Amino acid sequence: MHSKYPPISIVWLKRDLRLEDHEALCSALNSNNKVLLLYVAENTLKKSSHFSERHLNFIKESLKDMNAKLILKNTEILAVEGELISVFEELKKIFFIKGVYSHFETGIRLTFERDLDFKKWVTSKQIKWFEYRQQGVFRGLKNRDNWSELWRKFMHQPIKIIPRNDNFLNKSIISKISTKFKLLNMNTRFNSKIQIGGSSQANRYLETFFKGRYLNYQNHISKPDLSRKSCSRLSPYISYGNISMRQLIQRVEKEKNKGKNGFGIRAFESRLRWQSHFIQKFEMESSMEFQSINKGYHEIIKPLNYKYIDAWEKGKTGIPLVDASMRCLVQTGYLNFRMRALVVSFFVHHLWQPWQACSAFLAKQFLDFEPGIHFPQIQMQAGETGINTLRIYNPVKNGLEHDPFGNFTKQWIPELRELPAKLVHSPWNITPLETGIYNFKIGYNYPIPIVDTEKSRKFASETLWRIQKKPTVQEESKRILKQHTFNEKR
Ligand SMILES: Cc1cc2nc3c(=O)[nH]c(=O)nc-3n(C[C@H](O)[C@H](O)[C@H](O)COP(=O)(O)OP(=O)(O)OC[C@H]3O[C@@H](n4cnc5c(N)ncnc54)[C@H](O)[C@@H]3O)c2cc1C
Repeated sequence: MHSKYPPISIVWLKRDLRLEDHEALCSALNSNNKVLLLYVAENTLKKSSHFSERHLNFIKESLKDMNAKLILKNTEILAVEGELISVFEELKKIFFIKGVYSHFETGIRLTFERDLDFKKWVTSKQIKWFEYRQQGVFRGLKNRDNWSELWRKFMHQPIKIIPRNDNFLNKSIISKISTKFKLLNMNTRFNSKIQIGGSSQANRYLETFFKGRYLNYQNHISKPDLSRKSCSRLSPYISYGNISMRQLIQRVEKEKNKGKNGFGIRAFESRLRWQSHFIQKFEMESSMEFQSINKGYHEIIKPLNYKYIDAWEKGKTGIPLVDASMRCLVQTGYLNFRMRALVVSFFVHHLWQPWQACSAFLAKQFLDFEPGIHFPQIQMQAGETGINTLRIYNPVKNGLEHDPFGNFTKQWIPELRELPAKLVHSPWNITPLETGIYNFKIGYNYPIPIVDTEKSRKFASETLWRIQKKPTVQEESKRILKQHTFNEKR
């Protein structure tokens, strides 16, 4: 093929939106062809049930952050909308594509099938596709016998540094060819309540965490308001690859060598390892996107109740901590672990709704949506793995324990602001006298609980314990333990 442009290597960016420790990029730059960085905002993915505008906004912020650093290299990312193969077809008309470089993705079925189609396409066009690992996740494992060791070795490989060559495709060429594509509109919407995307932001969160925020990590981890400061808040940056897990693990080790070796740091480090562990589980059992990992639970039929679902999504169930958490999530894109577990527990147990009916709504709200954590965690909270202790969170007890003064709950439910702390988590206990004093009428200012939490907890618990004893659940539990348990070596 004759082209007026030089042959190119394409770095296909996905959930690896960074320039540091980017193996696909480094390999492409070492290929001695000119390198084009490409991001495709795929239409089918944008329309998928688990994707939302806030994710796209975060992606654009991440791309802008990369572009700001790429100015020095006199290049920029070609960010387009459309379907992947059509975009590549167009690029192939313009360039001689010598190779495509990307990272493996452990994603939803849609991205898996897209990868299969892309594999067929590159093969048919005799284009080489080089894929690299960016997480401690290994394809094709049958069990976890060696996973811990593989993970450790991967995390201790040297950080990949961009080679000092001049192989980036010149910006002027990118600007000339861009007329052939539907460019991604890079306007972003700033919302002060939602984290901003990009590696620069990721590094800011990382620095402030180790500067002092980590000191309260363990003490505040379950508190809905305080955890927002003392947890790392790195999750969206990890999910979109603004920072690599290897960078984080190596940084934690440096901090430990400096003497920061308290319980909090070690607890944080364990969670980083859980990230890979859960994604590995999903990699090995991707049907979890649709069905419970333990087939013994497939017999549970939970009738959909749209009134319940609607009330839960809107934060109007009449259970303050659940409602505050849902409203906070919708507005900020973030909840700490305990509140995520609590809202799912309420949905699947107290409202007795199938976990599949809350999955997409939550994924759209979580800025850090990571399929490999999301689906396994939801199923764990739903008590449908057979290998984890069944936990049905009591929202009132959790409220009193983790939001004792009602600060978080009142912040997100202004209707409850006038109530004293003792009533915030159980406003239905208000006496007629107090109704007058606080000018608050239950059922008028704030809903009466849509379910009796004691009765619904008992029903869910008895049903799930009964099912757990069944041979199919037991056999599946053994299989899951054999396939997915690993020895945690430090
Ligand atoms: C129902 C449910 C859904 C969840 N969905 C997601 C999701 O889509 N994306 C996501 O990143 N986390 C998810 N989590 C896990 C956890 O709640 C978040 O990772 C954490 O709250 C993010 O805050 P942080 O970055 O401050 O975490 P930190 O406590 O500072 O932890 C650091 C990192 O470790 C990892 N991590 C922390 N907790 C867990 C965990 N329990 N399992 C696996 N990895 C963990 C994350 O990458 C996190 O960013 C989910 C939890 C539940 C109960």
